[in-house]
Amino acid sequence: MRWKNDELRGWGGALKTQATLARPERHSALKATLQDTPCPAIGARRSYGDANLATHAIDMTRLDRFISFDKETGLLEAEAGVTIADMLNTFAPMGFMPATMPGTGFATLGGCIANDVHGKNHHLAGSFGQHVESLVLMGADGKSQRISLKSKPKLFRATIGGLGQTGVIISARLHLAKCPAGRMVVHERRMEDLDAFLDAFNASRADFQVGWLDMTAKGIHMGRGIMEEAHFSHDRYIRPKKARAVPFNAPGFAMSRPVVKAFNWLYYKRVPEDGRDVERPLHKFFFPLDGIRHWNRLYGKRGFHQFQCVLPDDEAPATLPLMLEAVASSGLASPLSVLKRLGHGRGGMMSFPMEGFTLAVDIVNRSAAKGLLARLNELARHAGGRVYLAKDSSLEAAYLPDMYPELADFRAEVEKADPSRAFATDLVNRLNVRG
Ligand SMILES: Cc1cc2nc3c(=O)[nH]c(=O)nc-3n(C[C@H](O)[C@H](O)[C@H](O)COP(=O)(O)OP(=O)(O)OC[C@H]3O[C@@H](n4cnc5c(N)ncnc54)[C@H](O)[C@@H]3O)c2cc1C
Repeated sequence: MRWKNDELRGWGGALKTQATLARPERHSALKATLQDTPCPAIGARRSYGDANLATHAIDMTRLDRFISFDKETGLLEAEAGVTIADMLNTFAPMGFMPATMPGTGFATLGGCIANDVHGKNHHLAGSFGQHVESLVLMGADGKSQRISLKSKPKLFRATIGGLGQTGVIISARLHLAKCPAGRMVVHERRMEDLDAFLDAFNASRADFQVGWLDMTAKGIHMGRGIMEEAHFSHDRYIRPKKARAVPFNAPGFAMSRPVVKAFNWLYYKRVPEDGRDVERPLHKFFFPLDGIRHWNRLYGKRGFHQFQCVLPDDEAPATLPLMLEAVASSGLASPLSVLKRLGHGRGGMMSFPMEGFTLAVDIVNRSAAKGLLARLNELARHAGGRVYLAKDSSLEAAYLPDMYPELADFRAEVEKADPSRAFATDLVNRLNVRG
C-alpha cells in the first residue's frame, strides 16, 4: 500500500497535523496495511476538531460499496466509506432513507457509527447506532469479526460512538427507515427570544425540528432565531445538483462582528412575522450547507472551532442564557448556530445524546476563542451537560469522566480490543480517553 504525506485538518481547520495516509480500495489491502502499520481509520473528515487526526491514518472513503439491500425490510449492508448522501440518493427513490442523518451528507457510514451521530429527529428516532443491526470490525492484527448487540454487547456498545478505538469498521448492516416522499414541508417561525424558543420546542409535535439562533443578539433579543418544523410532502425525489465550491480562504473581515451582525439580522427578517411554509427537497432540508463545497473556507486560514454541548432539560433554561451572553459579548459569533431538542436515545457507552437541549455554535478562531471555549466547557460541565467529541477541539481531559459516565467501562473494553493503542487519535490522546 502506498502512503501519502498530507496535512490533515479537522473540518473547523483550527487543529491540524502532518500525517501519512493510506487509502485502500479492497479488504485485502486494508488488512495488509493494518498489519504493516496499525493505525486509526478516518472517514470524510467532517468532524470539526481532532477526532480524525493522527500521525498515520487509513482513509476509508474508497471502501464505499453497497453489499446488499432487502427491498421488503429496508435492511442495507454497506461498506464503511459509503456516505450518508449516497444512501439517501440511492434508496429514497425506492422509498427508504437512513433513519437518522447528520447535517452533512458527506459523512461516511463508519464515521456516523464511530460518533453515533444524531439528526433533526433524534427525539423520535434516537441515534444512528441504534439502527445498526451488526457490523464487521477489523483489529490491529488484521483479523475481522462480525459483532452485534446480541453477540458481543459490550464490544458493540464500545464501538458505537467509540471514536474508532475498538478497531476499523469495515462494513455494517443497518435498518433504513421508510421515506414516503422526496420533499419536506418546512414550517418556519420567528422566535423572539430564548424563552419563546424553549417553549416552542417543548410544545412541538413535529417529526423533524431544528432552530437557528442569532448569536449576536443581546438584551431582550437574546436567543432570538428561527424555528423549523418539518414533515414529508407528497412529491417525488429530486436528485441534488453538483455543489458549487468556495474557491479560496476568505479574508478576515468576512466573519467580523459587523458583517455577522448584519447577516444575522437579514436572515432573521427573511421569515415573515406570522411564519410561512416552504417546500424543500430532502437534501436541502437535511444537508443545508452541502450545496456549497468547502464552505469552511469562509472562516479564513485560521479556521474556526465548533462548540456543541447538550444540557439536561432542568438546567437548560438557566445555563443557555449564560452561554449566549458569553458568545454574544465575545464578538466571535458566526452565523452558524443551532439549537435542537434531543431525546434519550443513545447507542453506545460514549454516545453524546442525553435528554435535553443541544446548542452548537461556530466560533471564529481568534486569540480570544480559547477563553470563550473554556468558559462554555465549564458551563456545560457545571450544568451536568456533555460536550460533543465529534466537534471538540478544546475540552479539558479532567471533565471527561463527569460528562461520560460510562468512560470506565469503555476504557476496559477498548483495552481488550486494542491493547497496543494502535487506534488512538489526537483527540483520544489530548483528552486521555483511553486512561
Ligand atoms: C456541516 C456539518 C453538519 C454536521 N451535523 C451533524 C449533526 O447534525 N449531528 C451529528 O451528530 N453530527 C453532525 N456533524 C458531525 C459529523 O456527522 C460527524 O463528525 C461524523 O462522524 C463525520 O463522519 P466522517 O465520515 O467525516 O468521519 P471522520 O470525521 O473522518 O471521523 C470521525 C471519527 O470516526 C472514526 N472513524 C471513521 N471511519 C471509521 C471506520 N471505518 N472505522 C472506525 N472508525 C472510523 C474516526 O477515527 C474518528 O474518530 C456535522 C458535521 C458537519 C461538517
